[in-house]
Amino acid sequence: MARMNDLANTPDAARPERQRKPDWIRVKAPVSKGYHETRKLMRDLNLNTVCEEAACPNIGECWTKKHATVMILGDVCTRACAFCNVKTGMPRIVDPLEPEHTAAAAAKLGLEHIVVTSVDRDDLPDGGAGQFVKVIQALRRETPNTTIEILTPDFRGKMRPAVEAICEAGPDVYNHNLETVPRLYPTIRPGARYYASLRLLEEVKNHDPRIFTKSGIMLGLGEQRLEVHQVMDDMRSADIDFMTMGQYLQPTPKHARVEDFVTPKAFDAFGAIARAKGFLQVASSPLTRSSYHAGDDFARMRASREAKLAKQQTA
Ligand code: SF4
Repeated sequence: MARMNDLANTPDAARPERQRKPDWIRVKAPVSKGYHETRKLMRDLNLNTVCEEAACPNIGECWTKKHATVMILGDVCTRACAFCNVKTGMPRIVDPLEPEHTAAAAAKLGLEHIVVTSVDRDDLPDGGAGQFVKVIQALRRETPNTTIEILTPDFRGKMRPAVEAICEAGPDVYNHNLETVPRLYPTIRPGARYYASLRLLEEVKNHDPRIFTKSGIMLGLGEQRLEVHQVMDDMRSADIDFMTMGQYLQPTPKHARVEDFVTPKAFDAFGAIARAKGFLQVASSPLTRSSYHAGDDFARMRASREAKLAKQQTA
């Protein structure tokens, strides 16, 4: 199978330890008034964000627009994935005020759409599903017009009850990322199982087909083109509505290194293939992240489903 670019053929010894970021990946430093206001609000409400914890390159743009992705269940994760910048260790007790504080943040930021994610909490009997439910309930109560997107862990060993409880709470979008192709799981996502993650998303649809499902992968970890196509097919078999693809960036030298900087043109080509495979919505670009432009993409996905249903009714 063909590699994504010639770098993959460079002998290990000749490769630089950390590749220089190409121009298309460079972003402006976060300095705006909106950025500082978003930051202060998160501190005041004692909320963590994946924007900061994952060192997201889009933070300047998103926070200027007051779009922040809240990370619940603390800032310490029980897993140690090779791509992720979030701290690993023994997490602290769950903050009972987090649901109300998340709703207060959505109200103060005036969010039409909120994305809520979490660390993995394998230490908790329900994996943290109960806290997702409480957050959704608080948001529905305090900001009923805000649409809700959740990005959950895989709830290893307790997936079915966790998914059931969360679906009952009724998020608009259920996101769970596959992160990479199955061949790279043992090194990149060692604590997880590719097919278990796919099953989780299938389970959401089985439970409530009205909930949009979403999943994404990072490119640049050494995956091959046809492996990415296979992931798309697997996602479509699980009836996933929305696929995201973005460039993996190495947060620190201790993390998995970048094998390829995939060009914007190659991202466009992957996006076109994904659209042809029937996803309602596809986001594919170097800076795409699960929650990047999530509100606009949600509106497009909803319109796309409505158009599809209208077409089926007239056929
Ligand atoms: S893309 Fe998502 S994680 Fe990154 S800054 Fe924007 S909202 Fe935060």
